[in-house]
Formats: sequence, C-alpha cells, structure tokens
Amino acid sequence: MTKRLVCFVALCFLMASKVFSGEVAIGVFAYQGERAAASDWSPVVRYLNQALPEHHFRLDQYDAVGLRHAIAGNRVDLVITNPGYYVTMEAEFGISRIATLDTDESHPAHALGSVVMTRADRPGLRVLADLTGKRVAAVAPEAFGGYLVAAREMLGQNVDPESDLKEIRFVGLPMNRIIEAVQRGEVDAGIVRACLPEQMASQGLIRLEEFRALSARQDPDLPCALSSRLYPNWPIAVTRHTDPGLAKAVARALLAMPESGGMSWAVPADYQPVHDLFRELRIGPYAYMREITPEGLVRRFWPWLLGLLAILTAWIVHTVRVEHQVHRRTAELRESLAARDQAEAKMRESQEQMEHLSRLSVLGELSGNLAHELNQPLTTIGTYARTVLRRQESGNLTPEAVTEASTEIAREAERAGGIVQRIRHFARKRLAPREPVNLAEIAEEARRLIVGMLARAPEVIIENRLTENCTVLADGAQIQQILLNLIKNAIDASRDLPIERQNLRIVIEPMDNRMAVHVIDQGVGLNAEQLPHLFEPFFTTKPDGLGLGLPICKTIIEAHGGRLWAEPNQDAPGMCFSFSLPCHELSA
Ligand code: ADP
Repeated sequence: MTKRLVCFVALCFLMASKVFSGEVAIGVFAYQGERAAASDWSPVVRYLNQALPEHHFRLDQYDAVGLRHAIAGNRVDLVITNPGYYVTMEAEFGISRIATLDTDESHPAHALGSVVMTRADRPGLRVLADLTGKRVAAVAPEAFGGYLVAAREMLGQNVDPESDLKEIRFVGLPMNRIIEAVQRGEVDAGIVRACLPEQMASQGLIRLEEFRALSARQDPDLPCALSSRLYPNWPIAVTRHTDPGLAKAVARALLAMPESGGMSWAVPADYQPVHDLFRELRIGPYAYMREITPEGLVRRFWPWLLGLLAILTAWIVHTVRVEHQVHRRTAELRESLAARDQAEAKMRESQEQMEHLSRLSVLGELSGNLAHELNQPLTTIGTYARTVLRRQESGNLTPEAVTEASTEIAREAERAGGIVQRIRHFARKRLAPREPVNLAEIAEEARRLIVGMLARAPEVIIENRLTENCTVLADGAQIQQILLNLIKNAIDASRDLPIERQNLRIVIEPMDNRMAVHVIDQGVGLNAEQLPHLFEPFFTTKPDGLGLGLPICKTIIEAHGGRLWAEPNQDAPGMCFSFSLPCHELSA
C-alpha cells in the first residue's frame, strides 16, 4: 500500500515537471505597478499561449531591481522592458532583443521622447537653457522618459541637471503628479514622457493651453508636444540561456501577431541612440566614464590618447630623422671644411711661394748693382789694410795710424754687413703676424735698401704727413716688398730719362680713416690701352719682365683689407701708384 502511494506521488511529480518544462517566464518591468503591467501585456501573453500551445507563457512582474535579479538568477526566459533598462541589461547580462513594440501612435524606432512642461503663464521660460537655477520635477533618476531623455537634451543646452538646477525633485510614479506639481507652481518645470499631457487632456484632467513645452520641437513620427529627440520603443528580449528554438518561435509568432489594442511587434529596432544617451550622461554601461581611474580615463579618452600617441610617435620619428640628418650633414660639413682648409693651405703655400719668387726677382734685378755696392767698402778696407802693411814694412807705423785704419776698416765692414743683412732679411721666406707698423719707417728702410743697392740711385723724397691717431696693423716685410716693387717699377719707367725726371716722391697721408701711400714718378707713364691691364697677371712691357709684381702687390694689400690703384699724374708726366690700409683702434 505504501509502495503504491510512493509510485503515485512520483508519477505526479514527473507529470508536473513535464508540464513545467514548457513553462516560459516573461519578466516584465512593471514601472507603473503590477495592475497596469498586467493589463498592458496580457494580450501578448494570451496571444503567445495561443500561437505556441506547446509552451505555457507566464507574466512575471518586477521592479527594476527585481528584474535584474531575475535575469541574473536565470529565472526569466523573455524580458519586456523599456529601452534604457534594456540597454543596461544588454551590457550587463547579454540579453538581446528579438522584436520592438509597434503602436498605433508611433514608429517603432521613434516612439519615446520627453516633454519638459512649464506653466504657459511663466515668463522667461522658453528653452531648456532657461532652466538654470530653476526647480524641476522628474520621475526618478533612472526613469527613461521621465528624466534621462530630457536630461540629455538639457546637457546639450549646457544645463547640467545634477548641478545647474536650483532643485531636481524626483516625485516617482504616476507621472500625473509631475504635471500637477507644475500646475500648482510647486516647481518651475516638470519632465514627463511625451504624449502624457495629451492623454491627460483627453481624459479631461488638464487643459493643454495652460502649459508650454520648453524647446518645443515636432516629429512626424509622434504627434505630441516634444522637448527631445525620439528613441525606439520597448523591446522584448531573450536571455543568454533562452533556448534558441524557443527564441525563434517567439520572434516568429510576435512578428505575425495581429494588432491588438493598437499594439503589435516589429523587427528589432536600432538601440544605438539609447547607447549614445547613456554615454553622454555617463550612466549605465558608461558609468565608468565618471570614475577617474586610469582605466576609466583610458576608456573615456582613448581616441585622444591614441591621437597623442600618434603625435608622440611622429615626433619621435621626426626627431630621430632630424638627428640622423644633422649627423650626416655635420659629417659632410666637416669633410668639406677639411677640404676647404686643405685647399686654403695649398693656396697660402703657393701664394707664399709666389711672393718669395717675387722678392727673389726684385733681388735678382737689384743684385747686379750689389757687387758694385759691396765693392766700394771692400776696396776701402783693402786700401787701409795695405797702407798698414806698407807702413809696418817701412817702419813708420804709428799707433795713431793703426787706430785710424782699424776704425775705417771696421766702419766699412759694418756698412757691407748692413747691405748684406738687409738683403737677407728681405729675401727670407716667412709668415709674420700682423702688428702695428710705422709706414714712414718702412718707406725709409725701402729707400735705404734701394739706394744701398743701386749705383746710380735716383733721389727718393719721403713726405710724411702721418697723424698720431691712426694705427696700421700689417706684416711690415710684405708692405716693404710692395713699396720696393713700386719704387723699382718707377725707376724702370724713368731710367732713360734726363736726371731731373728720375727723382721719385713717396707721400704718406691719411685718407678717409685710412692711411694712403703714394709712389709718384715722372717716368714714361702708360697709354690708355695699357692702363686697364695694369694689374692683370703677366701684363708687362719689359723685355725681361714677368708681369707678376703688381698682381702680387694687389693680393697682399687686399689681404690686409686695403686697396691698390694707379693713375697718371695730372698736369705732369709719369704715374702715381697708391695703396691704402685701414686704421685700427688699438684696445687700451
Ligand atoms: P714687371 O715689372 O715684371 O713687368 P709688374 O707687374 O710689376 O711686372 O708691372 C707690370 C707692368 O706695369 C710693367 O711692365 C709696366 O709696363 C707697368 N708699370 C708698372 N709700374 C709702372 C710705372 N711706374 N710707370 C709706368 N709703367 C709701369
């Protein structure tokens, strides 16, 4: 007997479990209370039970927290909820829509909006931006049409509902309370879902003329007063655990559901606008954007960070490239500088050689007379020496005579030594530093050298008009070489002329912050054809001339920052060769 009873209970249990295996729980967000939800959704439940008799559809009503728990605890197979809640659950639990509610009054993708109402007799309240510092009533912080949709629009007009209002008062449901609060003047404005005022007016609860919508706009998809853009209607969704076959069957049945009470189902709408709203308000799945954690910052500013990274990378690449180029160019520059230095050194060397050659050439021309010049002191020395010997032989060599002869011999030897010394000094090849020079002394030295070496030297008059306040920095030997060249040329130009035309003048005078030296002769001069070629290398009118003296002089003078030029004398025969050198200020 007991055994039979046990078998019966087990059979009942099995049958019951079979029945319950076809049970489908539809979790619905009953935001307006259970009664309202049951009357709203019962046609759908009824229809599904008819259309899919192998299943038993059941309506489970939840508030927001309860529905979340039910989804998390896998206690519902289908979820009907508002778009805001759907997007949050989609992000959190991966529920996914299979159809969107389609009502008579609106388009499924543009069905929900908010209207922010104020009393029509309130002045100064026309747009949402006017709400700064005002009191506003709304349903609840998480209410979609009753707060969030309008909050996004307010943010768009630079009014942060969390900080810029005098007060945001959440009064809960039913929404009629908000309109009533506005009507009584308890708040300046109220946020309600679009079309509620029209419904209330049609029920005779309010008169629409007494109210005004802020930032009013119109949308052909919803013929009600509006303060916001429109969002898709409520979706029905399946959870991750819903049997795919069931999901498919429900979707097919819902799309085929004939309109009942102005309600049917359409293919699932795009809920991206809802995501955009949540992202802008930084709530729901985008709440992390409020957190100032490194991760939050990265997730929020990743496009900027990416840009920054790109800029940084570009900058590094650019810097490395520039560095590389600088290295390469520096190396090239170093090479070309070295090459230039080498070329300059070569040039200097050959210039020095040319100068040396020129000096030797001047010497060569003058040395013919050198023998004659040296001969004179040597003859005198010989004469005195022989006189001493003769007197000694004849026995009348007095100490006075020895003293006189020795003195003369010494003086003459000194004279000869002086001539040789000057020539050696002049002929020596050397690099001298620039130092203050006395042009009058250099001219005097040159004159002495010429007069000492030439048997029939012309008279050389030096006119010194030097002033104290000009110091010339130069290589004295080079300046002397120039003077010797000019004097030698002048002597050559007047050699065959009467003696009175052979005299030369050297004038030293200041000239525009410079010092000028003129070598003036009365020689044969140059004709108009020859004059322009005077300073060209190898221009010569002499049978044994080289034509290098003047070009070398010009190079030397210009290297000193000076100038060399020539002009025929005015109102007199001959030429005037001049050079000028800059005056330097010596630091004290
Ligand atoms: P060179 O003396 O070897 O000819 P220079 O360059 O010193 O070379 O002189 C070039 C030419 O300039 C001379 O051949 C001469 O014709 C002319 N010249 C130079 N100085 C004078 C001068 N004082 N009067 C006339 N002609 C001159």
